[in-house]
Parts: sequence; structure tokens; C-alpha cells
Amino acid sequence: MIFKCKNCGGNILYNPDKGRLVCPHCDGEDSDDKLVSTEYMTHCANCGAPMDDVIKEHTSATKCPNCGTYVVLDERVEGKYTPDVIIPFKISKQKAIEILRAEFGKRVFTPAGFLSNASVDKIEGTYVPFFMYDYSTDTDFKGRGSKVRTWSDSQYEYTETSVFQVERCMKADFDNVPVDASIAMEDSIMDLMEPFDYRGVVDFQDRLMSGFLGEKYNMSKEELEPRAFSKVDGAVEGLLRESMSEYATIQTEFKDIKKDTRRIRYALLPIWEYVFSYQGINYRFHVNGETGKVVGQTPVAKNKVFAYGATVFGMVTIITMMIRMALSVM
Ligand SMILES: [Zn+2]
Ligand SMILES: [Zn+2]
Repeated sequence: MIFKCKNCGGNILYNPDKGRLVCPHCDGEDSDDKLVSTEYMTHCANCGAPMDDVIKEHTSATKCPNCGTYVVLDERVEGKYTPDVIIPFKISKQKAIEILRAEFGKRVFTPAGFLSNASVDKIEGTYVPFFMYDYSTDTDFKGRGSKVRTWSDSQYEYTETSVFQVERCMKADFDNVPVDASIAMEDSIMDLMEPFDYRGVVDFQDRLMSGFLGEKYNMSKEELEPRAFSKVDGAVEGLLRESMSEYATIQTEFKDIKKDTRRIRYALLPIWEYVFSYQGINYRFHVNGETGKVVGQTPVAKNKVFAYGATVFGMVTIITMMIRMALSVM
């Protein structure tokens, strides 16, 4: 499908600054008309140019290499591929370029042309497929915690070690635990792109994709659930540790984290991607299309991927935490 402007027939695009579809040709707002493709798309519905080069196995939205029209592939956002929700782009292309320049522009030794108008103009917004898992967890923990106290008098130094039997029962709900469902996007990069602000989630509408590239999920929610589980286990572990921070050491005797899946949603999340080729190597830079967080590696520091501007949005609601402690030995 392509979205055409009712007023002038041009390709109308979603405008992140205005939060609606705006025609770049006549400034018409929300004047979109959906032109549905009836068969599997191999040619541009606007100019007829072949699209084989830009339609890959999992592509759900792309741009015609000939006329630049943004195309959404009907059958890859429908049926089993219909996303439940989407976070529309809030950061415009211009803003994404400004963010990249502010972050990397002043670094010494950055190669010429790195953020020049010609190269940075190739930045594209992509909707990356994610699954978002909601869990209720119920954790039981038993272990031994120690506290150490030292003091001295004129003759001796004393050390007192108290050992406590520590128990924790914790119920915590986790909402929107995100796992990216794209093979093309590296998991480590996507993990650094987080967090997204899930208050920006809206019900899926295909028109919001006009102006961006996109991918459908290429791994199932079942295949990806182990990654969601390990994220939740890690978060539960963190909460447990926090609740026992008064102990110098903790020995685990028993731990059970029960997880109850409340909901799984298929989501499209917005990412700007800028690829810069330098001496035969492609360097990838990503800007979170909602929060503006930047992830990238500069050509001067090859092995390091940096994440900048972490804003934390809580995904955890603690319902109850029961703490039982009993002083036992010594
Ligand atoms: Zn128009
Ligand atoms: Zn075309």
C-alpha cells in the first residue's frame, strides 16, 4: 500500500513533529488516502520501477529506489503479522541528525564526511519488530546473610560476625519487557536502545508507517520468550539484592522465581539508523526514534559501542514484598 494525498496525489508521510500525516508537497494534514496493493508487490505502485533490491525476506515497509515513494507491504502488516501496537516516531529526521552531530561531531579524529549533509541525509527511520511481554512474578528466597562489626581496645581487635537466616517473598509485576524480533538488528544494539517510554504506545495503524522503513517479526514470540525470561530473572535478582543490601555477604539456599505470562504484544518500535562507510568498514549509529538516545561506535574507537543519554522508565510495579529475618547463629 502507499499513502497518497487527497489534495495533490503526492506521497503523504507521517510527520513526527506534528504527530500526524503531512503532505510534503501541499502541506495538507491527515489528507491521506490508502492505495492498497492487490498482489504481492514487486514493482512500485507509483512509478512501476522494480523493487526486488529493496524488498528483502522480512521487509514490511520500504522506499522505491527510483521515485522515493514510501511503500508498506500489505501482506507483511496483516493477518498474523498485524502488530498489536506501535510507538510512532517522535524524533524527526532533522532532529536525529542534530542529535548525531551534537554527540559525535566534536570528537577528535572523526573522519571527514562523517556527518556531512550528503552522507547524513541517508539516515532512515525503521520500525523494528519487538515482542513485549507482561509477567506477574512470585519469588521465594531463603539464604544466609552476614553482618560484620569490628572494634578494638588497648589489647585486642574484635570482629563479630552475625549470621542471619534471610527470607524474602516478593510479588512483582513486569510490564512491557521488550525483546527484539528482528534478525537484522543486533540484539546487543537493541538492548542498548532501551528503554522506550511505553506511555507512547498506541494501537497499530498502517498509515503511521508511511515515511519509514520496516520489518516484520522473523522469530516467534515462543522462540524469543527465553530472552524475556532472563531479563525478568535479572530484574528480580536486582530487586532481591537491593532488599538485602544491609548484609556483607549473601549465601543462597533456595530460590524460586515463578513467572505467569499475562500478555504478549507484537509491537513496532522506532529507530533511526545511520550507516557510515569508512575504509571499507560500515559503522552503524542508531537513535531511538522516541527518546533520542544514541548508540554508536566512532571510527576512532572500534571496539567500543557507546550508549548515551540513558533515561530510565520504570517497567516494574512492586506489589508486595514480605521480609522475614531471623537472627540465628553467633
Ligand atoms: Zn498534498
Ligand atoms: Zn517508484
